[in-house]
Amino acid sequence: MYERLTKCPLCKGVLFLNHMVVKDHAISQESFTLCRCTECGLIFTNPRPDKDHIQSYYDSKDYISHADKSNNLINILYKIVRKYTNKQKINFITKKLKRKGRILDYGCGTGYFISAAAKKGWETVGYEPNTIALDEAKKRTGKSPISDLAILNKEKKFDAITLFHVLEHIHDLNKTIKLILNLLKKRGLLFIAIPNLNSIDFKQKQENWAALDVPRHLYHFNPDTMTYLANQYGLKIVEIKPMVFDAYYVALLTDKYLGRKNPLRSFIDAYRYNQEAKKQQHTHSSLLYILKKK
Ligand SMILES: [Zn+2]
Repeated sequence: MYERLTKCPLCKGVLFLNHMVVKDHAISQESFTLCRCTECGLIFTNPRPDKDHIQSYYDSKDYISHADKSNNLINILYKIVRKYTNKQKINFITKKLKRKGRILDYGCGTGYFISAAAKKGWETVGYEPNTIALDEAKKRTGKSPISDLAILNKEKKFDAITLFHVLEHIHDLNKTIKLILNLLKKRGLLFIAIPNLNSIDFKQKQENWAALDVPRHLYHFNPDTMTYLANQYGLKIVEIKPMVFDAYYVALLTDKYLGRKNPLRSFIDAYRYNQEAKKQQHTHSSLLYILKKK
């Protein structure tokens, strides 16, 4: 049920130290250990539920990117913000690429982003392994996302590939990145959004920081380990962009787990984190990395 990694998922190094113990506040209430690789610095959840058993850790109506059914305050706000940020994301991608074309949203969840991209004139493909999310996405976009990697692998190449809070969930990190890069055009762009372990809010909240989200998050990246990843796969980081709304969502969740019931306080905290993060490079709650092939 649990697998204990004997090699670092990023650099294959064999020496790692226990770094922190983190509780799964969202679903199982179990505790998990984060290890730090002494070679590349990657922090990863170890041991972790194996591929066949991770699903039970997603089984909650509150896990919005799959189910989309819950209507508590945090999720209502999330949905409002999502509508805005999806438009913002596709506009940003179009601007960066200087054209429209084919886009793959790897881990498209319930399909909101591909739906927004299609409306803006992009040719869209979604990949999503979760069956509940698949049905939702099909209803929303009119076509079913691909759920089989072998089928995805036969797709024509893409101008842009996006992984919005997805990379940290993938068991086969190496295999998946290779597959994704195989699907990306030579001059295409890869967009990876991921929580930031160098963030002000992580420094403040430590093991209570909701974006650690163990055991669903298998890796906990920062700009250094993302740079290591980029180099390892022949990629160059073109730009790192802060994702300012994530600080609010994460602060609300963190305070919920800590039993603090005043959402206004969470908002003020998040606002402060964002203000503080403007002063120090790459310290926002989540970052969007834009990568291209070298
Ligand atoms: Zn390593």
